[in-house]
Amino acid sequence: MDHTLSQRYYEEALEYIVGGVNSPSRSFKAVGGGAPVFMAKGKGAYFWDVDGNRYIDYLAAYGPLIHGHGNEHIAKAIAHAAENGVLYGTPTVLEIQLAKMLREAIPSLEKIRFVNSGTEAVMTCIRVARAYTNRTKVIKFEGCYHGHSDLVLVAAGSGPSTLGIPDSAGIPESIAQEVITVPYNDLTSFEEALKHWGEQTAAVLVEPIVGNFGIVQPEPGFLEGVNRLAHSYGALVIYDEVITNFRFMYGGAQNLLGVEPDMTALGKIIGGGLPIGAYGGRREIMEKVAPLGPAYQAGTMAGNPASIAAGIACLEELQKPGTYERMDELAGILAEGLLAAARKYGHKVTINRCRGAFTLYFGREEPVKNYSDAQASDGEAFARFFRAILEEGICLAPSKYEAWFVSTAHSREDIDYTIAAAERAFAKM
Ligand code: PMP
Repeated sequence: MDHTLSQRYYEEALEYIVGGVNSPSRSFKAVGGGAPVFMAKGKGAYFWDVDGNRYIDYLAAYGPLIHGHGNEHIAKAIAHAAENGVLYGTPTVLEIQLAKMLREAIPSLEKIRFVNSGTEAVMTCIRVARAYTNRTKVIKFEGCYHGHSDLVLVAAGSGPSTLGIPDSAGIPESIAQEVITVPYNDLTSFEEALKHWGEQTAAVLVEPIVGNFGIVQPEPGFLEGVNRLAHSYGALVIYDEVITNFRFMYGGAQNLLGVEPDMTALGKIIGGGLPIGAYGGRREIMEKVAPLGPAYQAGTMAGNPASIAAGIACLEELQKPGTYERMDELAGILAEGLLAAARKYGHKVTINRCRGAFTLYFGREEPVKNYSDAQASDGEAFARFFRAILEEGICLAPSKYEAWFVSTAHSREDIDYTIAAAERAFAKM
């Protein structure tokens, strides 16, 4: 495959944009460096880059594109918004419609607020939980990503009963000291953290199904235990469903798993590909938010008609009968095909899958249950596979920690093509 123009644009981008990318995960740093592919056009399940190469897209823009690129119903909604005004700075009827759709799908969202990103949604959940409980500390789980606000870019200290250390320059230690990080799927460590800090803990923040060190599901009883223990100390439970909302079923992971948090952060799919975030939860908690309550949160772009209209159209498309069953079936065929292809060429791999999303980990055959397992998977082998399959016209996220997302735009032919491409990639790497 020729990547001459991507290379050229990358060199130009480096002159103007930090690292040549507007989000670090887009760089190829984790897969050996060099120019990332510059995409020029997307339609359905496909991407074309600036050099004219075609790819089948499993990146899905890190999750939002559950209908692939340029879905007609969503495109019409966006075009309608473009003609009628993309930003009003006043309430609109569309906002009520999307809020209603979200509450019908996810009943724990008694009241909701739209924001512009998943980062904002999580950041504000924490503020509101602190306002509601009059406490400051937050417990989170190792390897879960919750956006780039100060409080959640904090790594574990040297044990479950130590406070956090900043994961990024520019975050004061005083803020990191408000965060405790414990291993996912480990109720014993969680309980130990609560014994030390439970009385000061405003909220426990968790991805109910993890999407950020690959797709990792909670062990039976884990989320129920998180709820029970957190509530016994008077702390709120916040689910970060930015990746998981409407990913596995029409609703959240909380509906799939049958457990309910006090608050939920949403994003990605609910904006149909345009910028969005939302947060919501129990009425008495949400009524702490301005203008009703003392917790402040605002946004010039929040609830803008374009994002909201795209979100409504995206959810309408997801309501079509059989949508999720089809993604589940195709992802199942793809995952089986990838495993068989890897084994044929002697590669040790495992796949963690939840319905239409999965992660292929190299260097192990047992399922991944927590961040340490994911860290221990073979990043070097993943990088070789990523490069080999990219050359076969398959676009994945350039990191061993990300998921493959099957969309409603993928066909059985795309899946078969991908399995054949993977065989060639496994043979070559
Ligand atoms: N939470 C989770 C679970 C996420 O996966 C992400 C983004 N990958 C975020 C929050 C942050 O969302 P955004 O990039 O829209 O700010």
